[in-house]
Amino acid sequence: MKQLIADRALLPGGWRNNVLLEWDDHGILTRVRPDSDAAAVAVAGTVLPGIANLHSHAFQRAMAGLTEYRSDPKDSFWSWRTLMYKFAGKLSPADLKAIALQLYIEMLQAGYTSVCEFHYLHHDADGKPYADPAENMVCLIEAAQEAGIGLTLLPVMYQYSGFGAQAPHIGQARFVNSPEWIIGALQALQAAHPQHAGLRYGVAPHSLRAVSPQSLQQLLTLLRQWDAQAPVHIHIAEQEKEVEDCVAALGARPVAWLLEHAEVDRRWCLVHATHMTTAETEKLARSGAVAGICPTTEANLGDGIFNGVAYAGAQGTWGIGSDSHISTSVSEELRLYEYSQRLLHRQRNMLAGGEGASVGGYLYRQALRGGAIASGRQVAGLETGQRADLLVLDPQHADLGGKHGDQLLDSFVFCQHGQTPVRDVMAGGHWVVRDHKHGRQEQSAAAYARTMKKLLD
Ligand SMILES: [Zn+2]
Repeated sequence: MKQLIADRALLPGGWRNNVLLEWDDHGILTRVRPDSDAAAVAVAGTVLPGIANLHSHAFQRAMAGLTEYRSDPKDSFWSWRTLMYKFAGKLSPADLKAIALQLYIEMLQAGYTSVCEFHYLHHDADGKPYADPAENMVCLIEAAQEAGIGLTLLPVMYQYSGFGAQAPHIGQARFVNSPEWIIGALQALQAAHPQHAGLRYGVAPHSLRAVSPQSLQQLLTLLRQWDAQAPVHIHIAEQEKEVEDCVAALGARPVAWLLEHAEVDRRWCLVHATHMTTAETEKLARSGAVAGICPTTEANLGDGIFNGVAYAGAQGTWGIGSDSHISTSVSEELRLYEYSQRLLHRQRNMLAGGEGASVGGYLYRQALRGGAIASGRQVAGLETGQRADLLVLDPQHADLGGKHGDQLLDSFVFCQHGQTPVRDVMAGGHWVVRDHKHGRQEQSAAAYARTMKKLLD
């Protein structure tokens, strides 16, 4: 029988004790019953639903720590991007797989049980399609499968280097494709690697600067014929220059333009909706789309601060992504998101459900909900019909001892002393991390070290 009893667990209705969880062969929860006296295997500790990481460029894991020097008198997102293109130019499919496997193991150890992969490294170093055009995507699928993490794979449509259909740069040759290419790739992937509870396909028009209004429309039309519910992710307003260029080219700011010209709803995730007016913030919240917030990357790249307080006030949906992977810590992303709002407004406890409400509790529940919607998969928490994705916090951890209810989430998010309290992790009904260890971590670390040595020599 696939079941366990959790000492205490965070359910959609709140904290409960002695929770019986049962799941089927597909890793889907079939029963969640609190106050159970069933004779199942007991799990000591606090069980939390696993979070979906809604934005990842796996290959960038290997660049973490390599761009923290001054390359330009005015270093910015744009000079970082030049370094990133140089690095991306060197990667083979085998390198990508080694990096992705290492990354996905690290994500699981931190408490992410799913990832949305915003994948644009499609072709070989000269920009020529591989014999199997989806070769790099297959590497990501295999890496996710070997690590045991749920995957929403979003092939990126990339066409131009800037607004007004400017020709792509040489550094973008590996990315360039068309709506037909994307849909063809999805059809081929679905035939060779059909979707299941742990694997979902969608698309990602890279940004308004990298596609045209016409090709965006064409992609969406073809996608909806293929799968009416498939998720659509887009980078939307990460940089102020991008906003200015969008106004010059399209006559509106990016979020406003997209809300006006596309059927934006809960199937959409707008990543880096960093630069919005109050009107855009409220309208995005009303659309039901997910705002994809990537606090450590947005800080690292000097993007700016998301309008979190106004967005929360308008009941907007959001989730977190580790994006460039300078960090793969769930708690660090959530903590930095709240801290960005404190620094901006010079107050404390900015993101909470109401007076007396826990900030950690609000952040964790919202990131769970938004991540699940953005992933387009059944990963919304510990209830029947959702995937058995969970983590167990070590009750012996110094940060957690003697704490109850949402104090546990406040401590998980805001305290950081010693090893992570994430002791065990289950994804799709399988224990993938036990006592902090992933079964493939040593093998993966060795392969990753070899890859890094090759890339940096
Ligand atoms: Zn991104």
